[in-house]
Amino acid sequence: MQEKGTISIHTENIFPIIKKFLYSDHEIFLRELVSNAVDATQKIKQLAALGEYSGELGDLTVEVSVDKKKKTIKVSDKGIGMTAEEIKKYINQIAFSGATEFIEKYKDKADNQQIIGHFGLGFYSAFMVAKKVEIVTLSHQEGAEAAKWICTGETDFEIKPDKKKTRGTDIILHIADDSEEFLEDARIEGILNKYSKFLPIQIKFGQKDKSEEDGKDKDGNVKYKSVKVDNIINDTEPIWTKSPNDLKDEDYLAFYKTLYPFSEDPLFWIHLNVDYPFNLTGVLYFPKLKKDFDLQKNKIQLYSRQVFITDEVKDIVPEFLQLLHGVIDSPDIPLNVSRSYLQSDSNVKKINGYITKKVADKLADLFKNDREGYEKKWEDIGVFVKYGMISEEKFDEKAKDFVLLKNLDEKHFTIAEYKKQIEANQTNKDKNAVVLYTTDKDKQHGYIETAKKRSYDVIELNGPIDSHFISHLEQKNEKMVLQRVDADVIDKLIDKDEKKESMLSDEENETLKGIFEKAIDDKNNTVNVEAMATDDLPVTITLPEFIRRMKDMQATGGGPMMFGDMPMNLSVAVNANHEVIRKILDSKTDKKRERLAKQAYDLALLSQGMLEGKALTDFVNRSVEMI
Ligand code: ADP
Repeated sequence: MQEKGTISIHTENIFPIIKKFLYSDHEIFLRELVSNAVDATQKIKQLAALGEYSGELGDLTVEVSVDKKKKTIKVSDKGIGMTAEEIKKYINQIAFSGATEFIEKYKDKADNQQIIGHFGLGFYSAFMVAKKVEIVTLSHQEGAEAAKWICTGETDFEIKPDKKKTRGTDIILHIADDSEEFLEDARIEGILNKYSKFLPIQIKFGQKDKSEEDGKDKDGNVKYKSVKVDNIINDTEPIWTKSPNDLKDEDYLAFYKTLYPFSEDPLFWIHLNVDYPFNLTGVLYFPKLKKDFDLQKNKIQLYSRQVFITDEVKDIVPEFLQLLHGVIDSPDIPLNVSRSYLQSDSNVKKINGYITKKVADKLADLFKNDREGYEKKWEDIGVFVKYGMISEEKFDEKAKDFVLLKNLDEKHFTIAEYKKQIEANQTNKDKNAVVLYTTDKDKQHGYIETAKKRSYDVIELNGPIDSHFISHLEQKNEKMVLQRVDADVIDKLIDKDEKKESMLSDEENETLKGIFEKAIDDKNNTVNVEAMATDDLPVTITLPEFIRRMKDMQATGGGPMMFGDMPMNLSVAVNANHEVIRKILDSKTDKKRERLAKQAYDLALLSQGMLEGKALTDFVNRSVEMI
């Protein structure tokens, strides 16, 4: 019996709308059809397991094929199939109303492109690329009759009996003229590789050549021949679906290579597995971080029941965790909703919290059980840990116990250990522990040496986000301040209120200040005469910590903007107790005094790496004359 009908929806013609809405993402039609085929196949397996289906299961491979002459794409499964009644129910009514509802809901939304990326229209997405779709299907039910459904992209459909003898469903798409790109094998294989790489049922797409040993030639060399084998797209049991107990390191590394063929091996990984209060499995890898870590983002792939959804996990994974690589699979992440909704979704929040906790626990574990190995990896994971501490309160609470500071002797300390380490010698008059750091141990060499003379310890903080981390440390640790070694003269960096006697009178101080102010070209710099140790340098140039830090923070993003145009004023400290300074004061003529002052100042600039251009040439010439 043949039947014709009209699909009952109020929209005159839904297909132009589907096309328009899904414009950017036509390729997902294949994801949808293959997922349906896999679902139908899993259902028959389930029925068989429950004893509700007693026929032969047979080979359950889902097959995708392209017929270039007929301009068709076919997706065939050996799943449960549908009766004519079921087609009417599931395809004409349910699927259609689902599509209609979806479009009704989102047609006015501005960000519909983004929604689409995360959401398929199910079966009807076939009409994004096809002008006519046929379903040929035989239900698994005993005595079922095969049925054929044809729809030409209008709201009319036709349904009639068919001669199909084998259980399952063929979906045949007659590709529209503007979609012929999908008749290219490479395109289809590309889409299958993207979305179906880890589906739980084998997906076959044509055949491929494989070379096989073919005996030996007369010289005893192995011969090869080329044979055709089925081209299976997917790994039906990716590691995240397995139990960690059944997996070795090699398995995790091999899986990493299949995800990112050109990447270096990861440092370590975390196997995620929860089923309450939400479902989530996955494996997250810690990559070696590169300086430019924006490039390394968007490497986590999101799956829902082994169907690839997206690698833009922005709204699902906390920002700092986006530096990780790997796979997350959760059927509980709503994929059919807009971004703003996603961010407030309680499941997504829980998932965020869970992943953050897992990552922190893993790091705590490594730190506790293998401190040496952890320290070796610190170079690579440090940025990540610090980034996490700055951006996630919850992570910070845990990470403060395993974040490390490294001093110039290459020793690593936790914050608590380091406080202990410097307590005795580096506490200032306000009872603050002063942490001295360098961002460049070569450029700041002179200052480091001066600090060492006082037996002070210096740590190295030269990572891409350390300027932010420094402020974070101060905020979170009362009674701890950080100063870069060149932020002030050493006895002010750690001010212990131990006044050194000045060898100069107040009057001499004033004179000296005047001499230097005159000698220095940049009038923004401030000159101070200080009573320092006789073996400290005669002139020291310093960059005040606060302004420099704000500038550094701005350079790496964030930080208050008000310091943008502020000139980097230098402080010039003249050592009242140095014999060279005495010599300058004692010089006979103004000209000679100024010349010597300039020379001493230039030397200070030179040791800061700031003497360049004409000033440098003048300095060299002046030095030659003096010799
Ligand atoms: P969804 O898969 O989200 O339910 P679809 O529009 O993709 O929505 O499909 C609607 C329904 O049609 C399915 O729920 C299923 O009952 C039926 N269906 C689709 N494809 C197949 C298939 N290959 N085999 C059996 N039933 C199918």
